[in-house]
Amino acid sequence: VTLPDSWRERALCPQVDPELFFPPQGCPAAAKRAKNICAHCEVRRECLNDALANNEAFGIWGGLSERERRRLKYHRPAS
Ligand code: SF4
Repeated sequence: VTLPDSWRERALCPQVDPELFFPPQGCPAAAKRAKNICAHCEVRRECLNDALANNEAFGIWGGLSERERRRLKYHRPAS
């Protein structure tokens, strides 16, 4: 059985410090470190789609900050 969130088993972030993915506000250098890890994560698309569907309000998900996800959602046509 394939669970809907089985992509999490292939996520890179649990292998590093999870706090990296919740950088302090106004600290682009810290956010960039998390985004660099996401860039090498094979489940980035699944992660981002889930974050958008769940309206994740905090943290870096799928390589995007909360502000970037809000912008993407606003511009993305409803499916
Ligand atoms: S894309 Fe980033 S936040 Fe999402 S699972 Fe991969 S490493 Fe974690």
